[in-house]
Amino acid sequence: MPHPVRIGVDLGGTKTEVIALAPDGREIYRKRTPTPSGDYEAQIALVVRLVAELEQAVGGVGTVGVGIPGAVSPATGRIKNANSTWLLGKPLDRDLAAALGRPVRLQNDANCLAVSEATDGAGVGCDVVFAVILGTGVGGGIVVRGWPLTGKNAIAGEWGHTQLAWREDSERPGPACYCGLHGCLETLLSGPGVAADFRAATGRSMNGEGIVALSVEGDSQAEAALQRYESRLARGLATVINILDPDVIVLGGGLSNIDRLYRNVPAIWDRWVFSDRVDTPLRKAVHGDSSGVRGAAWLWPPTPS
Ligand SMILES: [Zn+2]
Repeated sequence: MPHPVRIGVDLGGTKTEVIALAPDGREIYRKRTPTPSGDYEAQIALVVRLVAELEQAVGGVGTVGVGIPGAVSPATGRIKNANSTWLLGKPLDRDLAAALGRPVRLQNDANCLAVSEATDGAGVGCDVVFAVILGTGVGGGIVVRGWPLTGKNAIAGEWGHTQLAWREDSERPGPACYCGLHGCLETLLSGPGVAADFRAATGRSMNGEGIVALSVEGDSQAEAALQRYESRLARGLATVINILDPDVIVLGGGLSNIDRLYRNVPAIWDRWVFSDRVDTPLRKAVHGDSSGVRGAAWLWPPTPS
């Protein structure tokens, strides 16, 4: 007997969100509250309270999937690579399972985006989905036939901290990244990255949305910045196509709302893909900001009908 309700929990750095999905994927409950930053015990207690309230409201017990900006280390069973530093080193999945009295599936938030879009979004019907978050940070996730690839080190798809490929001299060494290296894709393709690139080139402060608006008005510096962004995104994704050759690439996060990316990036990426033609679709996430928490819920996949 499958569980009637799937519960997704998104443990963000600033907000903790829960949703409930009906078996057909309809969202039947949602609540978002501030994350008790810095307090691990309070984070666990908050999830327990939110799940209890949700189950009270929808009248059923659900499966629980959790998305976090980090990963469970296969070697230690503890959280690593999380910018929510109070989670680092904690056996979060085990502690949540104990507190909730049921098994809990936990995945990186980019993997959750990929699961969401593969299950009932832009990657429906595709065997291999590569999904990217272009937001405050840059991450990636790989889903194969509905299941997220975790990997030996739990970093499968961790594309944001690979270096921009086929760099021009002007792109060396690239911006310093908090991970200790230079020129990581995250430093160039994230929201802060594109703003920093524009400021360095023009002396003007503008976010991605503002740069797009300026280019529409005919601002040549904004247009040049967007072309740099598109070239870098194309080179980053060409590397993915060369290694994984996914059936679809899905973009999520704030910068995925730049519509011209879906025309301009596939128009140039064949230069770096080792193939006579490139048929890979590049699509915007269907579920937008909800994809992370929906994907967490879908970590308990739909039963085949
Ligand atoms: Zn880095």
